[in-house]
Amino acid sequence: MTITENYNKILAKIPKDVTLVAVSKTKPIEAIETVYNEGQRIFGENRVQELVEKHEALPKDIEWHMIGHLQSKKVKNIAPFVSLIHSVDSIKLLQEINKQAEKNDRKIDCLLQFYIAQESTKYGFDLSEITPFIETELVSLKNINIIGVMGMATFTDDTLVVKTEFQKLKSIFDELKQNHLPNIETISMGMSGDFELAIQEGSNMVRVGSSIFGGRG
Ligand SMILES: *Cc1c(COP(=O)(O)O)cnc(C)c1O
Repeated sequence: MTITENYNKILAKIPKDVTLVAVSKTKPIEAIETVYNEGQRIFGENRVQELVEKHEALPKDIEWHMIGHLQSKKVKNIAPFVSLIHSVDSIKLLQEINKQAEKNDRKIDCLLQFYIAQESTKYGFDLSEITPFIETELVSLKNINIIGVMGMATFTDDTLVVKTEFQKLKSIFDELKQNHLPNIETISMGMSGDFELAIQEGSNMVRVGSSIFGGRG
């Protein structure tokens, strides 16, 4: 199947109230243009350098999402244009995003990444780690806007494990919304292999790469 066919097939499986982030990491400009020409405007990348280069090369109405682990020292490179950072996994990083957003006279939307997988390689907060900060210092960070949560499930064929992890992220979202951050709306969970399950479990933002663009080799 072509990229266009893949894209339209995925789109048909996603309800209208769920946002599709087309994950274009490692893929060439032409592949992104193909999907752009089908109407897609939200693209996700996981490396700062690649994100900056693609932003420069492509139409300016694209909304670029940073989805990969972000080092504080690199925030300044994406702060002028990034539209959502999914992978905020430390308080230090939140503070740096706030600082760089202020320098650019912007307010940057962020998702808090939570640790839900069994694998020890995934980044993210624990709820108990971030709630004291939310209740005290968060108000002073005027240039960030926390709009929701993000998580990555364990890479496994065991649907029950993945489902349990998605339920964990949904319950973290519910707890935060009810008791700490009443304005949050976004749950970013689900990738090529598990986005339908993620949507069943409450996701309203899915990050799909290889099912659209093909494998990354
Ligand atoms: C690569 C990546 C995706 C997309 O993965 P696919 O399996 O190719 O759909 C989603 N989220 C994050 C954080 C990624 O790094």
